[in-house]
Amino acid sequence: MEFQQQEITVQVAQTARDFARQHIKPYVMQWDETQEFPIQVFREMGKLGLMGVLVPEEYGGSGLGYLEYVAVIEEVSKVCGSVGLSLAAHNSLCTGHILQFGNEEQKKKYLPLLASCEWLGAWGLTEPNTGSDAGNMRTTAVRDGDSWILNGTKNWITHGISGDVAVVIARTGEPRTSGNSTAFIVERGTPGFSGGKKENKLGMRASETAEMIFDHCSIPDSQRMGDVGDGFKQALKVLDGGRISIAALSVGIARGAYEASLQYSKERYQFDQPISHFQGISFKLADMITEIEAAELLTLQAADLKNKKLPVTKEAAMAKYYASEVAVRVSTDAVQIFGGYGYTKDFPVEKFYRDSKLCTIGEGTSEIQKTVIARQILK
Ligand SMILES: Cc1cc2nc3c(=O)[nH]c(=O)nc-3n(C[C@H](O)[C@H](O)[C@H](O)COP(=O)(O)OP(=O)(O)OC[C@H]3O[C@@H](n4cnc5c(N)ncnc54)[C@H](O)[C@@H]3O)c2cc1C
Repeated sequence: MEFQQQEITVQVAQTARDFARQHIKPYVMQWDETQEFPIQVFREMGKLGLMGVLVPEEYGGSGLGYLEYVAVIEEVSKVCGSVGLSLAAHNSLCTGHILQFGNEEQKKKYLPLLASCEWLGAWGLTEPNTGSDAGNMRTTAVRDGDSWILNGTKNWITHGISGDVAVVIARTGEPRTSGNSTAFIVERGTPGFSGGKKENKLGMRASETAEMIFDHCSIPDSQRMGDVGDGFKQALKVLDGGRISIAALSVGIARGAYEASLQYSKERYQFDQPISHFQGISFKLADMITEIEAAELLTLQAADLKNKKLPVTKEAAMAKYYASEVAVRVSTDAVQIFGGYGYTKDFPVEKFYRDSKLCTIGEGTSEIQKTVIARQILK
């Protein structure tokens, strides 16, 4: 693995950093408090190529690799985890699924719209009764001549209301059988498809999380992706890439919390000296940066394997598991370093603390990541 960042990675990271400072940072708390989903920010990022980082240039994307993608997610998440989460869901779930499994016609139609963020993407696997056990889904797609009729509800979907297009995994076979689900592309405005309840969340409040409801929603067979029965298999592959982006999101949140704490520890005086002079604080900072850099290396290892199209299931799960737990530990210590001030909304660390928890849950909980890793090492 190459540890030195290439010039292109440095440039892309700088673009994302500049954008986040200028267009995201001033509004972070306003969006958080009102749960406003700042769609205009994503449209702007689309113009910069940040919404189609991995999409080849022939489909209107930036044609970059996973190392650049990780750098973008990390830079944005250092400033706002919510925007980082939505960026990740759009790039690697919806767009990533169509990029990996769409046919030529589907790629030509949807990828340019998604890469420019003229259209925002959503990806629906989870349901009210089936999260970790996603293979046991209840949403069905039943063949009706040249069409499929979708019925059911997906929940916890990032951009469930605002998404212009969604990739939806629905059951096309008997419950609890292998190969019983299929992936479909559904456009907003299709009769029978609507957004539902928007969640009121602990953190990641500026990232829209909502239900998607299918009520006798008819879509043509041309909207099916890949073979009938391949939906869950495709979803697991998409999640390998998605988990790398949640690892990057975690590293970004942890770095944001660490950098704020480092600065504060030098400025805050108690007992006539900066609190950084106390070993109790400096050792916390030492642990934070050590764990962040270890998490980043695991993330880059997974990104590097993904770039080389090598198996990455174990490495992506390890990166996601470790980095997300680090984000929670680091942001918890960050609040501690800020003391009472860390408990207020006047300083950024309470938001990092709230946002970080999603990272151990979304795209597979820490327990599920350990199951994936154990399965890989014991096979
Ligand atoms: C903000 C947010 C955004 C999201 N965005 C999307 C999205 O865009 N698309 C989408 O499809 N989904 C999305 N999700 C859903 C997310 O992927 C699920 O919440 C997650 O997979 C966990 O499922 P669950 O919430 O149903 O928890 P459950 O599966 O009910 O798990 C509850 C607890 O049981 C544990 N558990 C479950 N099974 C096992 C087991 N076999 N061994 C040990 N422990 C186990 C879990 O680890 C967890 O601690 C999002 C969720 C959130 C919160």
